[in-house]
Amino acid sequence: MRPLIIPFFIPHAGCPHTCLFCNQHLISGVEQDLPSAELIQETVQQWLARSPDRAAEVAFYGGSFTLLPRKQQEQLLGAVQPLIVQQKIKNIRISTRPDALNEVVLAFLADHKVAAIEIGVQSLDDQVLLLSKRGHTAAESLAAIQRVKAAGFQVGAQLLPGLPGDTREKALDSIKGVIAAGAEFVRIYPAVVLSDTALADKFKAGQFQPPDLEQGVKNCAQMLHLCLRAGIPVIRIGLQAEEGLSAEGTILAGCWHPALGQLVKAQLYYDLVVTLASQIVSTEGLQLACHPDRLSEVQGHARSNLTHWQQSGLSIRKVQTDASLQPDQVCLSNLQQKNTGSIINSCIYKETYDA
Ligand code: SF4
Repeated sequence: MRPLIIPFFIPHAGCPHTCLFCNQHLISGVEQDLPSAELIQETVQQWLARSPDRAAEVAFYGGSFTLLPRKQQEQLLGAVQPLIVQQKIKNIRISTRPDALNEVVLAFLADHKVAAIEIGVQSLDDQVLLLSKRGHTAAESLAAIQRVKAAGFQVGAQLLPGLPGDTREKALDSIKGVIAAGAEFVRIYPAVVLSDTALADKFKAGQFQPPDLEQGVKNCAQMLHLCLRAGIPVIRIGLQAEEGLSAEGTILAGCWHPALGQLVKAQLYYDLVVTLASQIVSTEGLQLACHPDRLSEVQGHARSNLTHWQQSGLSIRKVQTDASLQPDQVCLSNLQQKNTGSIINSCIYKETYDA
């Protein structure tokens, strides 16, 4: 069973400046800065009451935790320590910047039972980082991943494909880079233009246009494919559908959908079937089967894959289920041929195959 992650958002807390694209108040829907010890403990008890059987972790997200004044870090982490002693909480996770993770910081976090650190890498291209006003380099991100892992923490990387100056190739290189450096899990947040950001000003001035939903989903599918092949979990694709984000005028452009992760997985199955079909001599009378647990992903959101296969000349009217297939597999067949492939192991995207 996956651990229950109880999140506390500390929007922009500790951040030395505001990055070009960022508006954590909109992303998190949280206005106040730091939660009190009482609020943390009450909230944890409420979450535990709803899910008493799951191992639970407390997470501090939405800012640069390790750049908060040390006293505030101690207050936040201190509020969780009694819950750890009582074995209600297993450990703590935080997110922070790659340039705020030196050896002294890591020793402090280890002393306070922080077990997982999520690093805002965003891109491993220095030009993209510069244009986004991140204030750190790709080399600093890679060194931070290695240092955090060597110190015994679980380390994750957050990537943000589609920022100014980014390309699909750079985004794929970024995910390959964080995997090679030792990231143990990944979050992918394709670029969106949020209101009240410097990026919104650029967008309105016609100086930036992010990949749209269709292009962003295709890019994310290739990034997900690389992670699947490397056995690295992608624990989130796209911003959570907070109420604030759904309000009109909040997202001005970019790749956003409340079920983005589903769309990306469906794209992988779509591309796999197209690849398998290209190896079948005749596309007459095609039948498609998948594992029962993957039916909705294979069919696509609102059965969109079926429509798109039809439009590209593949007449697949229905997807059948077959429990003998693995969840990552589909089988495309007709009277003459049977072709089984996997979203993990099949060569769906040739340009990513050297990962
Ligand atoms: S991207 Fe991260 S470091 Fe930059 S302003 Fe947002 S929370 Fe702070």
